[in-house]
Amino acid sequence: MVRGSGVSRGLFERSNRVVPGGVNSPVRAWSAVGGEPLFVGRGEGSRIFDEEGRGYLDYVCAWGPLILGHAPAAVVEAVVNAAPQGTGFGAPTKKEMELAELVSGRIAGIEQLRLVNSGTEATMSAIRLSRGYTGRDKVLKFDGCYHGHVDALLAKAGSGVASFSLPDSAGVPESFTGETLIAGFNDVASVRSLIREHREDLAAVIVEPVCGNMGVIPPAPGFLEALRELTRRYGIVLIFDEVITGFRVARGGAQERYGVTPDVTCLGKVLGGGLPVGAFGGRRDIMSCLAPLGPVYQAGTLSGNPVTVTAGLATLKALEAPGVYPELEAKGRRLEEGLKGVLGPGVQGTVNRVGSMLTLFLGPERVTAPDHARDSDRDRFARFFHGMLARGIYLPPSPFEALFLSLAHSDDDIAATVAAFADWADEDSSRH
Ligand SMILES: *Cc1c(COP(=O)(O)O)cnc(C)c1O
Repeated sequence: MVRGSGVSRGLFERSNRVVPGGVNSPVRAWSAVGGEPLFVGRGEGSRIFDEEGRGYLDYVCAWGPLILGHAPAAVVEAVVNAAPQGTGFGAPTKKEMELAELVSGRIAGIEQLRLVNSGTEATMSAIRLSRGYTGRDKVLKFDGCYHGHVDALLAKAGSGVASFSLPDSAGVPESFTGETLIAGFNDVASVRSLIREHREDLAAVIVEPVCGNMGVIPPAPGFLEALRELTRRYGIVLIFDEVITGFRVARGGAQERYGVTPDVTCLGKVLGGGLPVGAFGGRRDIMSCLAPLGPVYQAGTLSGNPVTVTAGLATLKALEAPGVYPELEAKGRRLEEGLKGVLGPGVQGTVNRVGSMLTLFLGPERVTAPDHARDSDRDRFARFFHGMLARGIYLPPSPFEALFLSLAHSDDDIAATVAAFADWADEDSSRH
């Protein structure tokens, strides 16, 4: 077992006394890789620094939001200028309206939107809205897709395709997931048969248009189109959970990249520029079911918070600059090609990438469905994680997560990452 550094270890012990598991979100505890988490003191550009001041090249990027890197001047300045003006009013502000205008101008599927405080709140509200709009109760989700910790969405299939699902978490009554159907990601036949069987009762189909929470799994050609066609035919609301992909895989999200427009879109992560945020939006006729216009209740004390909104506006404006998305694409390609160049008989695996999000799967040579991802070599991943950390590279501490690049990641950073991987691969292959 790799022990944490002295300072981080002491802090983790203290934290464990007052915080369950020492962390405010479970993946941060490094359960999948062993050892004790680094306590991060600060971030700058492509790097984080632990409490002892040691720097690491960061591929977590706060789990996706930091597309400009850590503490970008434009966002920091906007926040510093906004805070003295007041940090919340519980009344409408011009900035919220500006952010809503910007988002609806960018995301094809959003005519109107509501700001909330997390991705979880966005998906929870999108589901309620779809149920209220259609007057139906059931929702269909995909095995391996994560939509935050909403009760009804904490369910997966036992074996690829199951009809009614059992909760993944204690504390979720079976009756709460009993209305949730599970289909196979990239498996149109499973969707078609579930929709045919339940079309009278199905309110919504919710999907990550690029699966990011089993590691990166792109949609197979025709998959999103088939979801669009089937849901339209039966009057089912199609929800794209673009909490990761929104403003990440294209300025207009995965819906722009793949040319498929959903009825409702969930956003989060990049939208808040590193501050807590979420949003859901869609067709005007659906969104107007929300209170105060309609019967679906949804609210939030700090929704549209002025400091958050300022950070979001600064981030989205920076992303308007020409060449930003081609640059992210080029960085992603460079990292993908570098990592793939190291894979071979010594270290087998594959790299899946969409734009600036990428996963290196150790073991399987092809990952087009969550079951392939589950075949990853978890012990080797743990060694890989710690081997990279020892070489100054901070990766997501789980084999089923995406690496995120930011505009602050330089070509030298990427070259150093590939060199570290090659060095680790040499060392690890010679163990056997
Ligand atoms: C992160 C994530 C969420 C949840 O967002 P939180 O802000 O953590 O509540 C929902 N959906 C997807 C696809 C995510 O990656």
